[in-house]
Amino acid sequence: MKCTRTLQINPADAALLSAIPPIRGLPRPTRVPLSFTQERLWFHSRLTGGGDACHLQIRLRLRGQLDDAALQTALDGLVVRHEVLRTTIGVDGGKPFQRVGPADVGLPLKHDDVTLRVDGEAALAILISNEAQAPFDLEAGPLIRGRLVRLTVDDHVLLITMHNMVSDDHSLNILAHEFSELYRAARTGRPHQLAPLPVQYADYTLWQRGWLTEEVLERQSEYWGRVLAGAPTVLKVPTDRPRPTRQDYRGSFVEFAWHEPLTTQLMAHSRRLGTTLFGTLLAGWALWLARISGQQELIIGMPVPNRTRTEITGLIGPFINTPTLRIDLSGDPTLEELVEQVNTAVLWAQVYQDLPFDQVIERINPPRKQAHTAILHAIPALLSNKPGASVELPELKLEYIGVDELVAQHDLALELDEVGETICGRLVYAASLFDRSTVAQFARYFQQALSQMAVNFGQRVWSVPLVLDKEGSHLSAELKPREVAFPHDRCIDELLEAQPARNRDAVHCEDENLSYRELNTRISAAPQVSEVQASVDNCDATRGTATMNFIEGARGVTEGELQANSITRYHVTEFYREQITDTIYHEQLRHIVEPSFEEFESPGNLDTSGEHDNTVVPGFQHKYPQTGLLLVTDRCASYCRYCFRKRIVGKNSDEVATDFAQISKYIRGHPEITNVLLSGGDPFMLSTARLEKILDHLLPVPHLNSIRFGTKMVAYEPKRFEDPALLPLFQRINESGKAAVIVTHFDHIGEISLDAERIIRSLSAHGLQFLNQAVLLRRVNDDPEILAATFAKCHQMGIHPYYLFQGRPVKGASHFQVSLRRGLEIAHGINHRLSGIQKTFKYIMSHYTGKIEILDIGTDGRVYMRYHQNKTPEKIGKIFSRLYTEGACWLDDLPEG
Ligand code: SF4
Repeated sequence: MKCTRTLQINPADAALLSAIPPIRGLPRPTRVPLSFTQERLWFHSRLTGGGDACHLQIRLRLRGQLDDAALQTALDGLVVRHEVLRTTIGVDGGKPFQRVGPADVGLPLKHDDVTLRVDGEAALAILISNEAQAPFDLEAGPLIRGRLVRLTVDDHVLLITMHNMVSDDHSLNILAHEFSELYRAARTGRPHQLAPLPVQYADYTLWQRGWLTEEVLERQSEYWGRVLAGAPTVLKVPTDRPRPTRQDYRGSFVEFAWHEPLTTQLMAHSRRLGTTLFGTLLAGWALWLARISGQQELIIGMPVPNRTRTEITGLIGPFINTPTLRIDLSGDPTLEELVEQVNTAVLWAQVYQDLPFDQVIERINPPRKQAHTAILHAIPALLSNKPGASVELPELKLEYIGVDELVAQHDLALELDEVGETICGRLVYAASLFDRSTVAQFARYFQQALSQMAVNFGQRVWSVPLVLDKEGSHLSAELKPREVAFPHDRCIDELLEAQPARNRDAVHCEDENLSYRELNTRISAAPQVSEVQASVDNCDATRGTATMNFIEGARGVTEGELQANSITRYHVTEFYREQITDTIYHEQLRHIVEPSFEEFESPGNLDTSGEHDNTVVPGFQHKYPQTGLLLVTDRCASYCRYCFRKRIVGKNSDEVATDFAQISKYIRGHPEITNVLLSGGDPFMLSTARLEKILDHLLPVPHLNSIRFGTKMVAYEPKRFEDPALLPLFQRINESGKAAVIVTHFDHIGEISLDAERIIRSLSAHGLQFLNQAVLLRRVNDDPEILAATFAKCHQMGIHPYYLFQGRPVKGASHFQVSLRRGLEIAHGINHRLSGIQKTFKYIMSHYTGKIEILDIGTDGRVYMRYHQNKTPEKIGKIFSRLYTEGACWLDDLPEG
């Protein structure tokens, strides 16, 4: 398809544009400056401390017999060919310059082997994510790194990660193509057939700096000045959350595909209108933007490869540019006129695409640099050119793989690909601003816009019938657009200080409105558990916890409401916050610790298993004959929102034990008690000295044969276990003839950090035993894949998973419950995925009457259960049943009889 338009370029510009000098590999000065794009990235990196938005990653799955030597030769060959891949950034007198390394520097490749891991794919996902986010040192380099993950003997994933300083999206195609040829050549022992590169990136830079000066710069600047004069610097779209003060670059995407007849109709219309399919889709995007934002004027960024010179078409490097299209819809044009306007804008943008966008903003509007940020925060349309096909290599099949998590450099970006008669695409969005459901709604709305275009190009932009579907009802309520870009009148320093006032998912803290993340940051400045633990000899280890008020729109929540609803304080360790922020499971794990308004509405009670009735001495419960439960603290390192002891944790509870002599006396009088579980709260919130004192009362009791510690500290703050005084404490228990057992509380594979694994392995080597309890939680781990991976990982580390608890109907936490039917599906699903020796857990309901194992729902519609523990020993092991009621989550939801 060819565009038939011609442009009337003024003669002076035409003369300059036709006199572009060739790019040559000329002798270089001592200092080669950065290109304009590199310079922007360098400033950005210094401003942000090196954000991962500046990273690119190509992921290649290599199935078959991998030749390690050929692989390394191919990677090194890439670095030999492209100087930019061995370039680092020097700084002299505050000015950056390119420093090209020697040709034989090679490409460092790290190796990971996950062949023995049951959760190999999950481990791979984490490695991909970590590798994509690990920072680069621009000065020390290298700015490209490789990682080879071995999944099985004939299945590997190769990750090549680069800083944007040395690459761009288009370069990924070149890199993949050249890697294939270099590997093929190395494997077969023949010379590669890649054409020599006529110039290198440094030559391009010198050419760019030499050509884009004086008159050329003036001409291009003048053009862009005309285009952007008075342009809007904000784009108004409804977001689910206000913009955070710091961009976090977490992204995700929603995929879609349009098929015939829509695609063939659009292609036919494009031909009729003398434009390309891309031009028509871009017009549809403008229609979508206008209607969803209500703006009559739009600025759309349009990334282009910017490789118009033949000398650089085969070069890896950061060439991409984002010229902008200004679209004016104030006259209510027809869709046909809109297409015309968009295509003309595209053609002009291509003519003047050489001037980097940063330079455009710099030159036309220096006092308002935030406008630049604003425009780039707007929505660019991007025709995807990432590699997508598979390639056959000798004894190896190479496939490109994607992941669900990625970096979002912009609020919302459109990527499109034409595959035959189908248009595949995705909307990449900033996860800090949008929910997936909202973006899915955007995608449907966009399709509507295109469908309307296909029906009648004579319709006027503001009259095209577009409606949000039912699922978007919350969105339509929000369609009073909200500014998403930075305001004009404030500098970046002020903006970094500013806090968005309106936030459904925010907390109000000490007269400030903060997002949860910001509150986390604030709180994490408080002393860490280990520091506190080392300095106190009592239970008070959660200092720094702020008083918290929720706000919803304009409504604040008073301290009285928080207390009346027994809302647990909000506190998360920095370690755990980072752990869950960095994983692909963030959307699931955050519910463990982040408060929500559902806590005000969840019905239930605060003592679901009758702890009050089983308390025999203050702080000591005796429910089951062999077990004593000792509440030693009301503090935890972080507070789980689903905790069944909400009545205690984070509060100054009088249910915590104080008189251990009296407790010891009670235990001595009950020889049936063979083990004591230290709980709370988290016993490791206490100082080790304090724990030693408690043991002074327990260890002399002859009929106790084990001391258990129920703790989530291994997830929340594993470094607590690096306290050198702890190992002697555990050894003391063992030497007294009792078993020291740590009952961990991993609910999700994403909670098991490398630090946690290291600690557990180290303590296991010293004879400690480990058990794991998990709670089945809606939106967190109600997925057999996740729980099977969690339990398998536990086994691998030497932890014995023994209970999967049904969530309890706790007031303020019952929204975490999963129905018994779904719970059984999950429990069965977990067992299907585990090997015989890994099937060690029981699906348990810790009811007032005892611990009940949930077995199945029979064909008679009844839930079959049996008592695993009961006050009355005769009931243990007895199977009983109740009629299942749809949605029931607890024994009391099932009718008796
Ligand atoms: S660590 Fe245990 S006691 Fe503490 S809040 Fe979480 S579930 Fe409750």
